[in-house]
Amino acid sequence: MNKGGGMKKMKYVLVTGGVVSGLGKGVTASSIGVLLKACGLRVTSIKIDPYLNTDAGTMSPFEHGEVYVLDDGGEVDLDLGNYERFLDIKLTRDNNITTGKIYQAVIDKERRGDYLGKTVQVVPHITDAIQEWIERVAMIPVDEQPGPADVCVIELGGTIGDIESMPFTEALGQFSYRVGAGNFCLIHVSLVPVLSAVGEQKSKPTQHSVRGLRSLGLTPNILACRSTLALEENVKQKLSQFCHVPAENIITLYDVPNIWHLPSLLRDQKAHGAILGALNLLGVAREPNLKEWTSRAESCDMLLEPVRIAIVGKYTGLSDSYLSLLKALLHASVSLRKKLVVDWVPASDIEDETAKENPDAYKAAWKLLQGADGVLVPGGFGDRGVEGKILAAKYARENRIPFLGICLGMQIAVIEFARSILGLQDANSTEFDPDTTSPCVIFMPEGSKTHFGGTMRLGSRRTYFQVMDCKSAKLYGNRGFVDERHRHRYEVNPDMVSTLEDAGLSFAGKDETGQRMEIVELPNHPYYIGTQFHPEFKSRPGKPSALFLGLIAAACGQLDSLLHAHKIPNGMAKKVSLYQNGNATKFAKIPADGIYSNCNGVHA
Ligand code: GLN
Repeated sequence: MNKGGGMKKMKYVLVTGGVVSGLGKGVTASSIGVLLKACGLRVTSIKIDPYLNTDAGTMSPFEHGEVYVLDDGGEVDLDLGNYERFLDIKLTRDNNITTGKIYQAVIDKERRGDYLGKTVQVVPHITDAIQEWIERVAMIPVDEQPGPADVCVIELGGTIGDIESMPFTEALGQFSYRVGAGNFCLIHVSLVPVLSAVGEQKSKPTQHSVRGLRSLGLTPNILACRSTLALEENVKQKLSQFCHVPAENIITLYDVPNIWHLPSLLRDQKAHGAILGALNLLGVAREPNLKEWTSRAESCDMLLEPVRIAIVGKYTGLSDSYLSLLKALLHASVSLRKKLVVDWVPASDIEDETAKENPDAYKAAWKLLQGADGVLVPGGFGDRGVEGKILAAKYARENRIPFLGICLGMQIAVIEFARSILGLQDANSTEFDPDTTSPCVIFMPEGSKTHFGGTMRLGSRRTYFQVMDCKSAKLYGNRGFVDERHRHRYEVNPDMVSTLEDAGLSFAGKDETGQRMEIVELPNHPYYIGTQFHPEFKSRPGKPSALFLGLIAAACGQLDSLLHAHKIPNGMAKKVSLYQNGNATKFAKIPADGIYSNCNGVHA
C-alpha cells in the first residue's frame, strides 16, 4: 500500500494478554501480522517487556528462553524471533522495549537537565517516553522496502493488571486516545477454560480481565480466546454482552496441530475484517492470500518419515532455551518432507563421571545419541557439559554421523580435533581452562582485551568463503560471502590454524581479516560442519537456513542430491531433490520466495 513513505498515518494493533501467562500471545500477535501482510499491508512490530533488564542479554535461557540476536547486535526477547520468522522482516534492538530501557532514557535525560527543573515522574515523563519510543520505532522500515510500514503490531508482555506493566498500560491508554479511533485496534488474548467435571466453557475469567483492561483506560476491539474447542455460541453472546465486544469480533484460538495454522484460523473467523474495520483500512487491503501458510501447515501435519536429531546441550530441560534452533531444524525438515524428531541429550550425562554417579542417565543419554541420524551441538556459555559436548563431537566424527556445531559447538569440535588428531591432550578453550598449554580457542574481543564488559562480538558480520569446493559454500549457493549473526567472545586461535589445517581440518569461512575462523569443515566426513556464527537466527519457514538444510539432508542420506541442486552458480538452484520415494526422486521448483511447494502434488 505505502510505496514511497511520505506523510501517512501509522496504524497500530495492540495485543494484550489476560487471565494467565503462556497463552501464546507472541505467536498470536505474529499470526495477526501474517494475516495483515497477506492482505497486502506492510507490517512491523514492537515487543514490550515490562522487566527492568535493559535487554535480554543478561537473562538465563533456562529461566526466560533463548536470547534472540538481531542483525544490529540487539540481544532481545525470543518473541522478536517469532516476528522475524513469521513476517520475514529484520527488526532492530529498539523494537524491543523494556522498562529498563525506558527508565534509562528518562534518567539520562534528567541528568542532562533536559527536564528544565521539573519533577520527573512516571506520569507524564515515563508514559510520554513510552509513547515517543513507539512512534519513533514504528517508522523504521524492516522489510527492505523504502518508507515505514502500514501497520505496527505492538505486543505488551505479561498479563493485564501486573504491577510491572502499569506505566505501559497507562501510556498505551493515552496513546490509543492520541492516535485516535480508526488508527488503533486492541486485541485482548484471553483464556476460556473448560472445567472437566461439568464440561462447560467458562467466560468469567475473560470478563474479569476485560474489566481490568477497561479500568486502565483500554477498550478491546477484539477478543481472542484460547480454548481447546471453538467457543459455543452462547458463550460468545455472554462475552459480547459483558465485555461490550460484538460477537463477530470474538475469535476462538482453539488448539491446532502446529502454529503455522494460526493465520488461517484467524482468517477463517474473519479476524482480518474486524482488524481492518477498526483501522479504517477495509477499502485499502485485499482479501488475504494465505496459500503458502496453509499448505505448509498442512504438509507439516502429514509428514511421516522421521529424521532424528540429537541436540547435545546444557539447557535441555526447557525447549524455549533453544527455540530458534528448533525452528531452524523444523524449517529444514519440512522442506525436505521429513518429520523432525528431536532427542534432547543433556551434555553432562554422556560424560564418564555420570557413568559412575548415575549409570542409568548415562546409558539413556548414550542410547539417544547413538540412535540419532544427526548430531547438533548448540552454542553455550560456562563449562558445565563441555566435556560431554566434546565426546558428542568425537562420536559424530568417528562414526561419520552428520554433525553441526554452532558457536560453542564449533569451538568444541576444534578442541576435540586437536585432542584426538593432533594428540594435544589438554587442548581447550581459555574460557574453560585459562592455563591450557594448547589454547585452541581464545578470548578475541573486537574491542578492548582487558575490559570484559561489552566485549561480546554481537550481530551481523560477514564471512568470506576460502574454499569454494566445500559443502558449506555449495549449500550457501556458491556465494562469495554470507552475513550471519554472532554472539560470542572466544574464537579459534589463529596461531593454531595452520597446524589444524595440515591435519585435515578445513577453515572454509573466515572474516575479512582472515583472523577470525567462521566456518570449519571436515572434508572427508559425510557432513561435519561448525560455525562461529548462529545461522538459526535467520532461518525462515520456507527459507530454511543453508547449513541446517545440509544437516537434515545428510541425516536422511540426501545431501548429494541437494548439493547437486545447488551446483548452479549464484544460488540460482532451480531444482532440489525433495524426497526419495521408492525408486523415483521427485523434484520441486523453488519459487522466488524459496518455498518448496507442492509442484508435484506433494501436499495433495
Ligand atoms: N562461550 C563461547 C564464547 O563466548 C560460545 C558462545 C556461544 O556459543 N554463543 O565464545
